[in-house]
Amino acid sequence: MVDDEGVGIDAQKPTVGVGLRLVRQLVRPYPLPFAISVFGAALFAAGTVVSAAVLGWVVDEVIVVNFESDASTSTTTNVAAGAAAVVAIGVLRSVGVVLRRYFAGMTAELVEKRTRTGLATQYLKQPLSWLRSVPPGRLMAHVDSDAHVLIHALHPLPFSIGVIFLALFTGISLYLIDPWIVLVAFVLFPVMMVVNSIYSRVVQKPLASVQKGVADIAGVAHESFEGALIVKTLGRQDAEAARFDHATQRLRSSRISVGIIGAVLNAVLRALPQLGVLSVVLLGAYRVRAGAMTPGDIVEVSALFSALVVPLHVFGFLLESLIPTVVAWNRLRPVIEETLPVAPGTAGLAADGPVSVEVRGLRFAYPDAPEDLVLKNLDLSIAPGELVAVVGPTGSGKSTLCAALAGVLDQAEGEILIGGLPIGSLSPTERLAAVTLVFQEPFLFAETIRSNIDLDGKLSDEAVVQAAKVAAIDEWIMSQPDKYATLLGERGVTVSGGQRQRIALARALARNVGLVILDDATSAIDTIIEQQILGHLRSSTDATMLVVANRLSTIDLADRIIYVRDGTVVASGTHDELLKRDDYHDLVMAYAEAEAA
Ligand code: ADP
Ligand code: MG
Repeated sequence: MVDDEGVGIDAQKPTVGVGLRLVRQLVRPYPLPFAISVFGAALFAAGTVVSAAVLGWVVDEVIVVNFESDASTSTTTNVAAGAAAVVAIGVLRSVGVVLRRYFAGMTAELVEKRTRTGLATQYLKQPLSWLRSVPPGRLMAHVDSDAHVLIHALHPLPFSIGVIFLALFTGISLYLIDPWIVLVAFVLFPVMMVVNSIYSRVVQKPLASVQKGVADIAGVAHESFEGALIVKTLGRQDAEAARFDHATQRLRSSRISVGIIGAVLNAVLRALPQLGVLSVVLLGAYRVRAGAMTPGDIVEVSALFSALVVPLHVFGFLLESLIPTVVAWNRLRPVIEETLPVAPGTAGLAADGPVSVEVRGLRFAYPDAPEDLVLKNLDLSIAPGELVAVVGPTGSGKSTLCAALAGVLDQAEGEILIGGLPIGSLSPTERLAAVTLVFQEPFLFAETIRSNIDLDGKLSDEAVVQAAKVAAIDEWIMSQPDKYATLLGERGVTVSGGQRQRIALARALARNVGLVILDDATSAIDTIIEQQILGHLRSSTDATMLVVANRLSTIDLADRIIYVRDGTVVASGTHDELLKRDDYHDLVMAYAEAEAA
C-alpha cells in the first residue's frame, strides 16, 4: 500500500531503536568490509587511550622528574622512548582512521548500489498498471535521493561503534588511575547520552520534512520540465517558478531548523568534556595532595576527556542520521517489498511460426476512469498467418486492444488466447517471442542503430540487415557515417518520425515472432514506402499480423478487416463487405480524402 507521501501504512516511527535495527539489516550482506571498518575504529580508540597514557607518563617521568632532580641521563632515554611511543601510536591511529573510512565508505556504497539496482529491477518487473499508478517524479526520487539518504547513517556507524570501545577503554584506564575519577565520567557520559537523545528527538520532525522537501522539489521540477511544452505554450512559466519557489522555501525553513538545533547541540556537546576536564583538575588536585594520583595522571585524564569531544560528536551525528535513514526506508519499503499481483506464467508455445489469436469477452477500463469501459466485451478471432486490419474511429479502443494482445494490460477481464494458450500463462520470455507490438511513436535508445534493432544483442548481422531491408530502412542506414554502428539520439544522428518508425519496424521484424501488431506504426511513412514495406512483409514472413490502419491502401492489403467502434468489434469481413455499412463507408472515405489532400 502506498499513500500520497510514498509511505507505507505500516511506516515505522523514526526512532533510534528502529534506525539501529534497519542499519543492521542494511549492512548484513557485507560483513567483511563493515567488520574491518569497525576494527579500524577500535584501533583508533585504543590508540587514543594509550596516547593519553603516554602523555601522562611523559609528564611524570620527564617533566616532573626534571623539576625534582638534575639526573639528565635517565631523562634523555625517557624523552627518546616517549617520542618513539608518540610516533608509533600516531601511526597506529592513522592506520585505524584509514581502515575505518575506506571500508565504511565501501560498505555504504555497496548498500547504495544494491538498493538502486534493486529498485530499478523492481520497477521493471512490475506490471504497467503499477508503473502508471506511481508518479514518475517519485520513482526518480527513490533511485536518486532516497537511495542516497538511506545510507547516511552508515558513514558514522563504525566510528560510533568505536565510541563504545573508547568509552570502555577510557573507563578501564580511569579506574586504573583512580576509582574516584571514574565518578566524573559516570556523571559526564550519561549526560552526554541524554543530550544526544534529546537532540535526536527534537530534530526528528524538521529532518523528516527536509527529506520530504527534497523529494517535493524533485517532483515539481520533474513535472514542469516534463511538461515544458505545455508550460511554455500556455505561459505557465511564472506559475511553475512560483510553485518551485514555494517548494524550495519549505525546504529552506526545514534545513534552517535542523541547522539551529544542530548548532545548539554542538555547543553543549563541546562544552561538556571541557567541564569534565575542569572537574578532573579540581578533584585531581585533592587526590594528588592525598598521594593517590600523580600530576601525570591528571594530564592523562584531561587528555582522555578532551579526546572524547570528536567521537561523541560523531555519535550524535549517527543518531541524527538514523532519522533520515528510517524516513528514506519508509519511502522505499513499499516499493522494495511490492510483490507481483499475479505470478508470471511458465507455459511455452508448442512451436514457432504464426499463431492464432482468440479474444473472448475482453473488458478493460483505465484505472483513472474505472467506470468508463474502453474495451466492452470484445470478441475476436484471427487464424494463424492472417493479415487483419483494424479500422475504427479515434478513441474507439484500437490502441488499447493492441496493448491487451501484447499482454501488457494486466487487469483486463476476459480471455486472450495466443496460439491456444491464455496470454497470462505464457512465460514472459515466451510471450515476447510470440508477440511484438510496434507503436506509432516508438522509443529509440541513444545507442547504435544496430543495437536499436537487435535489442538483446543476440541476432546475426544477416538477420538485422534482412529486417532493415524489409522495413525499407537499410538504404538510409548504409548512407549514414558509421552505417549500422551509427549512434542515434543524444549527440548521435537525429532521426525523423518516418525513419524512427522504420527502425522500430525492423526491430519488431528481426525478432521473427508469431504475431506482429502494428499500431499505426507506419503513420509517418509516406504511402509509397508504406506499400513497399507491407509488400515486403507479406513475402518475407508468414507471421500473423494485426495492423491498425488509417489508409485505404493499407486496408486494401488486408485479408480481412475488423471494424471497431466504442470498444467492441461491430463488424468483420472484407473491405467490400464492410463498405455496405454507412458508418464504415463514411470513415474510410474520410481517410481517402485525407490521403488525397
Ligand atoms: P484509439 O487507439 O482507437 O484511438 P485508444 O485505445 O487509444 O483509442 O483509447 C481508447 C480510450 O481510452 C480513449 O477514450 C482514451 O481517452 C482512453 N485512454 C487511452 N489511453 C489511456 C490511458 N493511458 N489512461 C486513461 N485513458 C486512456
Ligand atoms: Mg491509437
